[in-house]
Parts: sequence; C-alpha cells; structure tokens
Amino acid sequence: MTEKFKAPRGTFDVLSDQQPVRERIQAVSRRRLEAAGYGHIDTPIFEDTDLFARGVGESTDIVQKQMFTFEDQGGRSLTLRPEATASVCRAYLQHGMQKLAQPVKLWMEGPFFRHERPQAGRYRQFTQVDAEAIGSESPLVDAEMILIASDIITELGVEGVRLRLGSLGTPATRAAYLEELRDYLRSREAELSDEVRGRLDVNPLRAFDAEHEGTRHVMDEAPTLLERLDEADAEHFDAVRQTLDRNGLVYELDPTLVRGLDYYTRTLFEFECERLGAQSGIGGGGRYDGLIELIGGPPTPGCGWALGVDRIALALEAQEDAAEGETAREGVFVVAEEDGREAALALVTELRRAGMTADLDLAGRATKGQMKQADRVGARYALILARDAKATLRDMDSGEEREVDPATLVETLSSP
Ligand code: AMP
Repeated sequence: MTEKFKAPRGTFDVLSDQQPVRERIQAVSRRRLEAAGYGHIDTPIFEDTDLFARGVGESTDIVQKQMFTFEDQGGRSLTLRPEATASVCRAYLQHGMQKLAQPVKLWMEGPFFRHERPQAGRYRQFTQVDAEAIGSESPLVDAEMILIASDIITELGVEGVRLRLGSLGTPATRAAYLEELRDYLRSREAELSDEVRGRLDVNPLRAFDAEHEGTRHVMDEAPTLLERLDEADAEHFDAVRQTLDRNGLVYELDPTLVRGLDYYTRTLFEFECERLGAQSGIGGGGRYDGLIELIGGPPTPGCGWALGVDRIALALEAQEDAAEGETAREGVFVVAEEDGREAALALVTELRRAGMTADLDLAGRATKGQMKQADRVGARYALILARDAKATLRDMDSGEEREVDPATLVETLSSP
C-alpha cells in the first residue's frame, strides 16, 4: 500500500475556514503598526547559521536545541529563522539604515521554525507578527511598543490577558545578580526542594517559580534583580513605567521575568492569556541594546516584540465557540440546468467582474442539489436560470422570490 502522507510533526495545515481569524489578526496588526509609522519589511526564511548563533546567543535553548540547520550544496550552514530580531538587525546593517532618521521602525510577519516538543499551542512552524524599533535608547520607545501591542490585543478582543513587565538591566548587572542569588540559595540550601537544589548552578531563577513550601519561604526573602539595577537602568525602567501608567496600561511587575533569548537588556515584557493553558504566552519582547554590536555593527540600541498569531487565533477561536453567532449571507449562487451551465458561468464571471461574490455548481448537481449548495456556501441570493431566458431571484434569508432579467442582474443586485 502507498504511504499516506501527513504534515510533519509539529506543523499543521491552515484550512480555509480557519483563515478568517488569522487574517483579522494580521490585518489589525498591520493597520496599527503602519499607523504608528512602522514600515513593512520581509527577510529571507533562512539565514547564515552564525547570525542566530551570535545574535540569539550560543548558550540559549534556541541555538543549542531548537534550530533547523542544514548545509546547502556549497557547504554553507544555513538555518530556518527561529525568530525575527536578528534578521531585522542584519537587514538594518546591510542596508545602511543607521544613516536614516532614527529610530528605524519596522514590522514583519511570517513563519518561524523551532524544533520544540510539539503540544497544544507549541509548534515547529509557527507564525509571528514582529515589530522592531532600532536606533533609540529612549524609554518612550519601549512604552510606545508595549502600548501598540496591547492595543492590537485589545482590539482583537482577546479575553483574560495580563501583561508582565520587568527589567534585566545590563548583562553585567545580571551576571552579578545571578552570582548573588546563587550564594543566597546556597546559604539556605537545607530549606530548598531537591529539584531547586539540583538546578541551582544552571538556573537559580527557576527557584522563584517553585511550589515547594520551604523554597517559597526562602524566595520571599530573596534579593530580586529589580532591586539590583544600577542607577541608569533603574531610571530607564521607571520612565517606561510612568509612561505606561500615564496611558492607563495595567501590568504586573515581575522581578523574575526571564526570556529564552540572550540578547535582552533592560525592559522585558510578556503578554499572557490565562485561557490558553500551559503555552499561555501570546506575545512578548524587550530591549536589546547589545545585539547589533554582537552581529558586527556599531553600538546601537533597539527594542522589539513578537505576537504569536497561532496562539492568539486559538484564544479567539475558543471564545467564538462560546459565543457562536450567525455569519451574514453574501453573494449570489447561480442555479442552472445542465445545458445552462455555460450561461451560468458567463453570468457568474460578469458578476465577479463587477466586484460581487458569485458562484455556480461545478459538480453536475440537479436543481435541488444546487439550491442546497447555495445554502451551504452561505449565498445571500440564489439565481435560478430557466430555459426561456427568464430568471428567478430567491432571497435565501426570507425565501422571497421575484422574476428578474439576467441581462440587468448587476444593476438589480446593486440596488436590490
Ligand atoms: P518569542 O520569540 O520566544 O519571544 O515568542 C513570541 C511569541 O511567539 C510567544 O509569545 C508565542 O505566542 C509565539 N511562539 C513562540 N514559540 C512558539 C511555538 N513554538 N509555537 C507557537 N507559538 C510560538
């Protein structure tokens, strides 16, 4: 027997009835970003592997475990993009965008690839809308970006969303803090759970998420990174917060927020949807003032975010199930006898050229079957062509019928 193929593990087909919600996410994002002065950019689906190794960070899970890397025929190592920021920064440098008025604001959307363990809401190919503002250190940039993301999520109507906000300071502050936290945890090792004790050297921050009672008690008194920010970083973070407050944005301060990418400095944020279960992050980002230098450019600050289109779609679909509504009927379905199909296609073509939604039967159905099909495709009208060049227009909502002249159908339907 011939093997039946399926989409590869962790990937999925987006079927046509699943497109409207995704298209709405993309349309709302695009409109809001362009209204805020973000220009549309597209970068290749794959890049030199080194760009991500250096840009995302050698020590990150993404680079160590999750990249789809392959060698091309010329022996070069290429990688399917696991995220957008490194590519956008590469394009910024390659096209000399430092010479433009700063910050340069860019957005893009498309597929990204990470070899993660698939589960609900976590895929190996997923779609992001991404925004980057490169070339300004101002805390207004961070705040503006968070406000835009929040407004997109609000306009889409995603329910149960919370925003977590933190600051990482500089890499040096972070490293010193992690050392301090390790020392603190070691000084109270006996009170910690076995799990936290075992991961103390690798990731001491995990201890903040522990449910173990003794560990929680220790963590209540633990130093936090926010308390250790140097003066400039603390001022920057305060300024971001004040702007968000002035614009009425509600957020939770999270002194333990960490993200899986090495390049973040200062502001860090994540939008979560509590209805989504384990994979609840619907978007997030932060400032990355060291990244452009890491990939060979001059010191250049930047800030960005990515929204997860698949997860936002999951959240909205779940909501729509709960409040299922009738969608409005639209367009015309032309019903004809077998020998009237040519005339039907000509009429449908004329209607389509006039900008209307129109369709016909292409499967040789009898008249009754065609009426059913008209109903199934959600047509507003069925136009029944008779042999004597007469036609009946049936309103599929009310069932009302009237005689019409097919020759003037476009006018008739334009002013029904
Ligand atoms: P990140 O690029 O890791 O900051 O992720 C930004 C957003 O992209 C997340 O909040 C998710 O909504 C989405 N995302 C990241 N990885 C995946 C994945 N493997 N599957 C589906 N969505 C993802």
